[in-house]
Amino acid sequence: VAEGRGDRVAIHFEGEPGDTRTLTYNDLLREVSRAANALSALGVSTGDRVVIYLPMIPEAVIAMLACARLGAPHSVVFGGFSADALRSRIADAEAKVVITADGGFRRGAPSALKPAVDEALEERDGVASPVEHVLVVRRTGQETTIVEGRDVWWHDALDSADVTHVPVWVEAEHPLFILYTSGTTGKPKGILHTTGGYLTQTAYTHKYVFDLKAESDVYWCTADIGWVTGHSYVTYGPLINGATQVIYEGTPDSPHQGRWWEIIEKYKVTILYTAPTAIRTCMKWGEDIPAKFDLTSLRVLGSVGEPINPEAWMWYRRVIGGDRTPIVDTWWQTETGAIMISPLPGVTAAKPGSAQVPLPGIVADVVDDEFRSVPDGGGGYLVLSEPWPAMLRGIWGDLERFKDTYWSRFPGIYFAGDGAKKDDDGDIWLLGRVDDVMNVSGHRLSTTEIESALVSHDAVAEAAVVGATDETTGQAVVAFVILRSDHAEALGTSDEDEIVQILRNHVGKEIGPIAKPKRILVVAELPKTRSGKIMRRLLRDVAENRAVGDATTLADSSVMDLIAKGLSK
Ligand code: AMP
Repeated sequence: VAEGRGDRVAIHFEGEPGDTRTLTYNDLLREVSRAANALSALGVSTGDRVVIYLPMIPEAVIAMLACARLGAPHSVVFGGFSADALRSRIADAEAKVVITADGGFRRGAPSALKPAVDEALEERDGVASPVEHVLVVRRTGQETTIVEGRDVWWHDALDSADVTHVPVWVEAEHPLFILYTSGTTGKPKGILHTTGGYLTQTAYTHKYVFDLKAESDVYWCTADIGWVTGHSYVTYGPLINGATQVIYEGTPDSPHQGRWWEIIEKYKVTILYTAPTAIRTCMKWGEDIPAKFDLTSLRVLGSVGEPINPEAWMWYRRVIGGDRTPIVDTWWQTETGAIMISPLPGVTAAKPGSAQVPLPGIVADVVDDEFRSVPDGGGGYLVLSEPWPAMLRGIWGDLERFKDTYWSRFPGIYFAGDGAKKDDDGDIWLLGRVDDVMNVSGHRLSTTEIESALVSHDAVAEAAVVGATDETTGQAVVAFVILRSDHAEALGTSDEDEIVQILRNHVGKEIGPIAKPKRILVVAELPKTRSGKIMRRLLRDVAENRAVGDATTLADSSVMDLIAKGLSK
């Protein structure tokens, strides 16, 4: 703005009901400054944590940047997470303020958010919430409780706030944000990112991986700000680079299955960044839908979140990209903060399905169990063998877990948790997680976290969860449960279909709708080794309708027959 680019559009906002707003960089600076002043007035100062629980509306970006201006680390919690998930994240970060909305529009209807905040802030087991104030954006206009002395409407707070704000200067290593992600245990990890390195790498990768020409491009990343992609490639990277971007609130099929393509035509989007699961869903809907819209403005397509299967890659390129556009398949994680492995458009000869090469400055390798680099053609574990600017700086409040999770498999070397292979040219192909983490629609879910949610129900004695290959979502959550003998009393029914529905809803309440198992199978036993470890590999065979693999280490080898028999009925 100081260099005279304030009139450039920063955000074209498209609400799900069709309402629109345009924010220039001047507008954005003004709104962020007012929000920073409003947060200050509520007592937020440098170092305090602020939880953001908002739909995909411009205020989400404004809230994050207002926190950054104050040096108050934000912790964005995806709007699809439940009150309980929100509560545990607020408690872990000891947040002082929550920024939320009355609700957002989803699938044609307002969906409330504020009640979940009220529930998350209630005292539990004699422990009071650390939150002092809640800022509430009015989005849907639905009826909303405002707690006197605690809750403040966003518009009231901003209306009375000064439009200028002097940013707080912080050290490069000052915490910028915490973002919770699922790990292999039941407790989510608060991934900590700091300021200088993170911003450097998000800006660098956004510019070069997407070949950004900020003066002329219209960029659109479909990720929600609740995930790291929304942090690095909606809020920080594009805005540092002065890009013009589209933000869309809703789902791709509201009110019709061509909504995304209509938005691309309307704003003449040139760069699109989305996830394989969305591409596969659109493939299912049929190519006649995008064919109704003018997509010729597109010049670069991106993919993130999971390995993109070559078939989806080819469809993306042919149907959406008109057989002209390069596709960048970008591998990275919440922990890496920014893109690490990706082809560069116009530079790398693409291979459908492969993320290919580490970016300049990044050192990645595929190694075997003994940390020997595998030869071309071999497979093993993906590691990052040199530090990088946007690397995580820790797990919030848990140094031991940080060391243990990332640095102990190969001492001193970052282990990403992904399997990979090198092809004959040395290009990298990602093969999915090698731990108990699932990837559903590009979202990371922990098997253990869902198991804990299931056994927290009175009717459940034991649970095992696996990620089974799914045509659309990459993986789908499949749960095996053993019910308690008195489950009929706890559930008020012994009908299996009803039980499954109750348990799915229970997981939805404990974690959020995204974690609801696609299938729940009631079984009498679970396959365990003699040391009592559940053999998920065998359950995955069952869930994927495969012949069950080697079961010789089972304590009771008849268990798998019982499970398979139960399933076929
Ligand atoms: P998250 O931190 O939730 O974004 O999840 C990161 C994980 O998603 C990685 O560890 C990978 O398993 C997977 N992932 C992300 N991008 C890609 C990609 N382009 N190719 C393959 N896997 C990916």
